[in-house]
Amino acid sequence: GLGKRSRLIEAHRAAAEFYHSRLLETPEARIGRDFLRERGFASPEAKLFGIGYAPRSGEELARHLRGKGFTDDELTIGGLCGRGSRGLYDRFRGRLIWPIRDITGDTIGFGARHLWDNDRIGAKYLNTTETPIYKKSTVLYGLDLAKKSIRDERQVVVVEGYTDVMAAHLSGVQGAVATCGTAFGEDHIKVIRRIVRDEADLAPAKVIFTFDGDKAGQGAAMKAYAQDDKWASQSFVAVAKDGMDPCDLRLREGDAAVRDLVEDAVPMFEFAVRTTLARFDLQTAEGRVRGMGAVAPIINSIRDSSLRPEYVRTVAGWVGVEVEQMRDAVTRAGRIQA
Ligand code: ATP
Ligand code: MN
Ligand code: MN
Ligand code: MN
Repeated sequence: GLGKRSRLIEAHRAAAEFYHSRLLETPEARIGRDFLRERGFASPEAKLFGIGYAPRSGEELARHLRGKGFTDDELTIGGLCGRGSRGLYDRFRGRLIWPIRDITGDTIGFGARHLWDNDRIGAKYLNTTETPIYKKSTVLYGLDLAKKSIRDERQVVVVEGYTDVMAAHLSGVQGAVATCGTAFGEDHIKVIRRIVRDEADLAPAKVIFTFDGDKAGQGAAMKAYAQDDKWASQSFVAVAKDGMDPCDLRLREGDAAVRDLVEDAVPMFEFAVRTTLARFDLQTAEGRVRGMGAVAPIINSIRDSSLRPEYVRTVAGWVGVEVEQMRDAVTRAGRIQA
């Protein structure tokens, strides 16, 4: 019920304050403050994003929140604490903490990065698991800060990580959000559609995927393409060079480089075709024929049939085959899929 939700929100607000004050005040959290500084973030930014530090002891948060009147059930159901043989323990320990806020700015969960090399760490990042107030398929980190820009510019920039949202935001790319430990999916698209209120008389909003320039990032972009549908002609991809992500790029080359990366994004379709073609040797006849076969289903999947002939012509040029050949390959791909 409503009462429970508001209690869990209250507990998260108190937890975020606790983590934030630990970051600023405790000697133990120096490792976290150093991490932020080395990533190019100063204290006003730590404050804006509410960054915190979870102590290593593993019981301080539980004690603090019990002291504020929260019940053990509220702390475990909300995902802040676990219940072990010796009682409650803090779920996040010895980690840097990002409060994950909903669109209204209420904290509904946390992302947590390991910091101490010689702790038994588990994953590099831990996120809140599913709770009554946190549903990861709909959560977009940074949305509370990005929504105005998304609405005004009719454009959303999707990045991979928490530090990337911060870097983008500080570089002047204010419509930046990240999914939290999950792929960008249908539910995320719905959330964005509600913000831009897509209507017939408005141009559809642009989605720019700015993923890491590593293998995982390229894979994520292709996955986003595979399930992109209504947005087909409005999705763009930018992948930074040398395996960098937006946070690395800002550190190495500055704010303008991040803005340029986003500005130079290519249509998702073009990205998908070029990434696929890169696997083939287009210098040989065999490579061209195979490459043509591999990209034909991509062209065939374009929903807007009036756009298809245009793409057939363009891609035939990239592959180095006759337009006729390309058109036949696309038709064949359609029959196979049907
Ligand atoms: P770093 O702090 O090292 O710069 P990053 O933010 O660049 O990390 P990546 O390894 O590029 O992290 O992963 C991108 C995002 O994917 C992370 O920010 C995090 O949200 C999520 N992620 C990464 N590893 C995990 C994991 N093991 N479990 C859950 N989510 C993860
Ligand atoms: Mn990565
Ligand atoms: Mn990074
Ligand atoms: Mn990264």
